[in-house]
Amino acid sequence: MTSTLTRSPLQGLRCKECGHPYPAAARHVCDEVCFGPLEVVYDYEAIRARTSRASIEAGPASIWRYRDFLPIEGDPIDVGTGFTPLLQANRLARRLGLRRLYIKNDGVNMPTLSFKDRVVSVALTRARELGFSTVSCASTGNLANSTAAIAAHAGMDCCVFIPADLEAGKVLGTLIYNPTLMAVRGNYDQVNRLCSEVANTHGWGFVNINLRPYYSEGSKTLGYEVIEQLGWELPDHIVAPLASGSLFTKIRKGFDEFIKVGLVDEKPVRFSGAQASGCSPIAQAFDEGRDFITPVKPSTIAKSIAIGNPADGPYALDIARRTGGSIAAVSDEEIVDGIKLLAETEGVFTETAGGTTIAVLRKLVEQGRIDPNETTVAYITGNGLKTTEAVATSIGEPFLIDARLDSFESAWERAQSLQRATWETVDV
Ligand SMILES: *Cc1c(COP(=O)(O)O)cnc(C)c1O
Ligand SMILES: [Zn+2]
Repeated sequence: MTSTLTRSPLQGLRCKECGHPYPAAARHVCDEVCFGPLEVVYDYEAIRARTSRASIEAGPASIWRYRDFLPIEGDPIDVGTGFTPLLQANRLARRLGLRRLYIKNDGVNMPTLSFKDRVVSVALTRARELGFSTVSCASTGNLANSTAAIAAHAGMDCCVFIPADLEAGKVLGTLIYNPTLMAVRGNYDQVNRLCSEVANTHGWGFVNINLRPYYSEGSKTLGYEVIEQLGWELPDHIVAPLASGSLFTKIRKGFDEFIKVGLVDEKPVRFSGAQASGCSPIAQAFDEGRDFITPVKPSTIAKSIAIGNPADGPYALDIARRTGGSIAAVSDEEIVDGIKLLAETEGVFTETAGGTTIAVLRKLVEQGRIDPNETTVAYITGNGLKTTEAVATSIGEPFLIDARLDSFESAWERAQSLQRATWETVDV
C-alpha cells in the first residue's frame, strides 16, 4: 500500500572500491574512475521507517516479502520465488557430530529448483523497469534455466549462453522454455568473455553482466530468510558454495542490513565457503594467505560452480577471514559422497554444488573448524534431478522381478542379505 505513495528506498549505484556514485541504470563497472564493481545503495532510514518484523511476516511467502530491500521501483515479476524450507537436519547433524544443523533447501526453489531463481526474479524485474525487451546471461546451467523460465513468464525475449559440455538436465531445463540457446565450445570463463562483447554490441540486458548490481542483490534474501526462519536470530556459522563468490558476499550483506535497520540483534557469524578441488581458486588463495585470486582452468563434476576467474573472489576471501571462517575444497569423489549422505540422512537430493557444500561441511567439522555447539546453516543451492550423471554409477539398482509373490520373496531375501552385508562394513 505505502509503496505506491512513498519513494522506493533504491537510491542509485556506487563503486564498491572508490565510492563514486552512479545513477540506477544498466551498468556494472566504475568506468568514470577506477573500474571497480558497482553495487546498489539504499536509503536505510526510509527502509527502517516502513518495515518491521510484523510487516514482513504479513507479506507474501516469497522473496517479495523483502521488497523494500530489493532494487526495484514498481511491481515485481512474481513467480513464487523464495521462502524455501529451512530444515532442521538432526540425522545429518548426529552423523557429523554437530548439535544444531540446518539445511536451507533452495533445491526446491521456484520456478527452476535452484537459488538462481532469486537473482533472476530481481534482475528481470529491474530489466523490465529499465526498458529491456531482450534478456540474456552467461551461465553454468542453473542461471540459463532460470532466465529462460522467468523471461517466458514475463513475455520477454531471451537468448542465453552456456558452455557446450553441460549436463543433459540443465540443457533440457533451458530448451523447454524455448529461448535461443547458444552452447559455446569453451568453459564458463570463455562464455562470460564472449557475453561481455555481445553486451556491448546488442542492447540486451545481461542479468549477470550489465544488470549484475541488481541481480546479485537477489541473493540477500537467502540471508533474510534464514534470520526469519530461525525466529529472528542469526546463526553462528554458515557454509555456502562459491562460484563467482557473489552469493556468499550477499548473504553477508543481507545479515548486515537486518542488523542495520534493527530487525535482528547483532552477533558474530562465521562464514565458510565450499569449492570443488577441480576449480578452487578462492580456496587456494585462502590456504596460501593471498588476498588476490589466481585464475584456474576448471575440471570438476561440479559444473554449476566451475568458475575459474571469480569476480567476487577477493570479497569472499575477506569475509571468510574477517569472520573466522574457512574456505575449503573437496574432490569429485567426496562431492558424490556428500550428495548421497544428504539424501540418505535427510531425504534431500541435491546437485553437485550441494554435494560440495556437504562434503566441505563434513571436512570442516573433522578439522575442528566448526564447533559442534555452533548453530550451523548449510546452504543447498540446487536440485539433484538436474545432475543425475554425477551419481548414476554410484547408486544401487532396482530388483527386476516378475509380478508373482515368489519372485518378490526371493528378491526380498537377496535384498536383506545385501543390507546385512552393508551393516557389517559400516562402523556403528
Ligand atoms: C550459481 C550457483 C552457485 C554460486 O554462485 P555465485 O556465482 O558464487 O553467486 C551455487 N550453487 C549453484 C547450484 C549455482 O547454480
Ligand atoms: Zn571506482
